[in-house]
Amino acid sequence: MASSKHPETIALHAGYRADPTTTSVAVPIYQTTSYQFNSTEHAANLFALKELGNIYTRIMNPTQAVLEERIAALEGGVAALALSSGQAASLFAVQNICHAGDNFVCSTDIYGGTWNLFANTMKTMGIECRFVDPADPENFRRATDARTRCYYGETLPNPKLAVFPIAEVAKIGRELGVPLIVDNTAAPILCRPIEHGAAITMHSTTKYIGGHGTSIGGIIVDGGNFDWEKHAQRFPMLNTPDPSYHGAVWTQAVKPLGPIAYIIKARVTLLRDIGAAMSPFNAFMFIQGLETLALRVRQQAANAIRVAEYLSKHPKIARTIFPGLQTGELKRRADAHLKGGYGALVGFELKGGREAGRKFIDSLKMFYHVANIGDVRSLAIHPATTTHSQLTAEEQLKTGVSDGYVRLSIGIEHIDDILADLDQALAAL
Ligand code: PLP
Repeated sequence: MASSKHPETIALHAGYRADPTTTSVAVPIYQTTSYQFNSTEHAANLFALKELGNIYTRIMNPTQAVLEERIAALEGGVAALALSSGQAASLFAVQNICHAGDNFVCSTDIYGGTWNLFANTMKTMGIECRFVDPADPENFRRATDARTRCYYGETLPNPKLAVFPIAEVAKIGRELGVPLIVDNTAAPILCRPIEHGAAITMHSTTKYIGGHGTSIGGIIVDGGNFDWEKHAQRFPMLNTPDPSYHGAVWTQAVKPLGPIAYIIKARVTLLRDIGAAMSPFNAFMFIQGLETLALRVRQQAANAIRVAEYLSKHPKIARTIFPGLQTGELKRRADAHLKGGYGALVGFELKGGREAGRKFIDSLKMFYHVANIGDVRSLAIHPATTTHSQLTAEEQLKTGVSDGYVRLSIGIEHIDDILADLDQALAAL
């Protein structure tokens, strides 16, 4: 189904109509490891990528394939690769085009788990992550050299909730021949980074796409809009024979199948070798999640606006952090990139600091106290004593976490009940 359809429609119909064998309307869970080849010629063609088809569930599966096609269409990309977690998706997205001795430039404003992966684990692989402040997009240009393979940023990173300048950084990258990868986990439906010039997007599907807090997963989407051949010097891994796949040159090998060199390489080399596959059952759970994603995201965003308005007027709160309440360049970036809402995340700083933060969380009755976002239920956490507790006070402040900072992920409960729970917890301080 063409991706010119609206997101609500794509999420229900893209990539699947009915199972060809059983006519099942719900996407079946293809709980199988392997697939019968029609003939030796068919098998040889599949392995040689002369035709695409199922070989083995570590590298593809029909349930995953529906999820991949739907999310690729939702994001405005050409193809996708489902993986076992968001972390696996972040790693593969970069590792696919960045080898030992190479570097990439990343926003300082990213999820802590991604930071650790990029700053420490990838360093042990010989890949250098150069962190730059996204407040000035030109910082990306300044950090670029001949071995820079990509830029990386998060659409709506918390705790600062300052929208990443996707269009600006993508434009710099296109001038220099560097593709932008965007983690769009916190803004599905609201933002389509590929439309703003990003080459690749990824999601932790664990969050909004699953939506119900049941399954860990990740996905990478190939925008199909980056000319890897034009920048052959920078991307030898896509333009010279790959010894791990009997000399395939990825920009040539799959050309008849569309502009999918990047994503096919990730599938048939990285996923083949590292094996971070999404289980068919989890793919099914994410397909269920996708069907109501647009409804949920819009309701969560509408509720979050009401919560932010309420918090911004509360006498015990020093500051409310929410894209809709920002001013100047931050607000301009938010409005340029987010459509139909500002997401479900709301931060605030309690005047009473650390102790007030703790007490507030302990006083909540309906909100769950968890290290997660994007669930249908409303969630809260006090980063200074949990997710950011390993950082020094100075480091915490740098990441935007003050002692009294509380992060909320607003759910789809009735807004009156959400506000009532916040109100009684604030009254307890
Ligand atoms: N990216 C973002 C923005 C996240 O919030 C998370 C998890 O919190 C991840 C990536 C990692 O995803 P996962 O937990 O599915 O590995």
